[in-house]
Amino acid sequence: MESTPEQRPVPRETRFDADVARYAARARGMVASEIRALFSVANRPEVVSLAGGSPNISGLPLDVVGSLLNDLVLDRGVAAMNYAVAQGYPPLREQILEVMRPVGIEANADDVVVTVGSQQALDLVTRIFCDPGDVVIAEAPSYVGALGVFAAYQCDVVHVAMDDDGLIPDHLDTAIASVIASGRRVKFLYTIPNFQNPTGVSLPQERRHAILEICRKHDVLVVEDDPYGLLGFDGEPNRALRADDPARVVYLGSFSKTFAPGFRVGWALAPHAIRDKLVLAQESATLCPPTFSQHVVSSYLERHDWRGQIKSFREMYRERRDAMLDALDDFMPASMTWTKPGGGFFVWATLPEGLDAKAMSPRAITERVAYVPGTAFYADGYGSQCLRLSYCFPPPERIREGVRRLAAVVEQELEL
Ligand code: PMP
Repeated sequence: MESTPEQRPVPRETRFDADVARYAARARGMVASEIRALFSVANRPEVVSLAGGSPNISGLPLDVVGSLLNDLVLDRGVAAMNYAVAQGYPPLREQILEVMRPVGIEANADDVVVTVGSQQALDLVTRIFCDPGDVVIAEAPSYVGALGVFAAYQCDVVHVAMDDDGLIPDHLDTAIASVIASGRRVKFLYTIPNFQNPTGVSLPQERRHAILEICRKHDVLVVEDDPYGLLGFDGEPNRALRADDPARVVYLGSFSKTFAPGFRVGWALAPHAIRDKLVLAQESATLCPPTFSQHVVSSYLERHDWRGQIKSFREMYRERRDAMLDALDDFMPASMTWTKPGGGFFVWATLPEGLDAKAMSPRAITERVAYVPGTAFYADGYGSQCLRLSYCFPPPERIREGVRRLAAVVEQELEL
């Protein structure tokens, strides 16, 4: 009698586990991030997760999105569901110029390349610039998803120290000079100038000028990753590096935090020659970015008060930031320090001397609170005394409870 699909034994793929040489060398750099490993436990309902970085989009007007989807399918569904140009939907590229105006960018829609989130922009930029062993400079610490891309392309990441005002220009200068002195070239500086992931800190204007000056001096390209630029809590958005040196900066933007990440729409704004390579790389990676998602984002920008929506996101995140900072003040021991973000999603905390955030993590999970240990944000194993705390997702009272639980864990560790 023939066996049903459920009865058939599942073949074990041991050949593919054990045979390392079967894979490309670059696949060896592809390892699960610490964040991913944490997700399964952090998402349990009894755990307060201060680990994830997902935006809280429950305030989006789903009725508006529903009706624009309906109209989109009925009015231009045939075009919106077909292949399209690799550089991205032209009306959306025009609208992206409007989204970049508050950070001081004046550009041409022809220099915008739409990508599958800014994550893909990072991938394409690294793909066109980096051979194995090439040097990329990044903040210490830096965005885990960018470090994953750099590892996949076998880049050599040189971290540069930060303080409460972000990347330190003198250290950047020294780091670039020493790479050059060793006979190598820096392919680009990767920086997140606003409400950085994971530290929450931002570069003041003078530092932006100093960093551009140093990059001009050493002829280094800048990749400015700015998904949080419009999510500042006080005053006007900071001026982008790209606004002051269009020829030297590739600017990466995203709709993930200002609209919704599920559509996976981001972009790169690049000098012409780089733009041409990015379009070719986009063509070989995806043929074209998802047409339907681009049409949805375009209709949303056209029909909804997206600026008002960002304002209400900002207010929600500000309340959560306040809840986290107040709770840290109220519960944490005096020997612990943390950043005070003016926007974005994250606080970066430094444990009392001698404590290790990774070793402490299982105990925190037992006490029903999750965070990301700092080592996830370094390519070189540093960061063990630090941790990233996200305030973007849980409501304020859960944040307070999470910090209270975490403080109890820190106190226990100090007593050990
Ligand atoms: N850059 C930074 C600094 C981020 O924090 C993220 C998302 N967490 C991304 C890029 C990627 O975002 P997306 O691909 O959703 O645009």
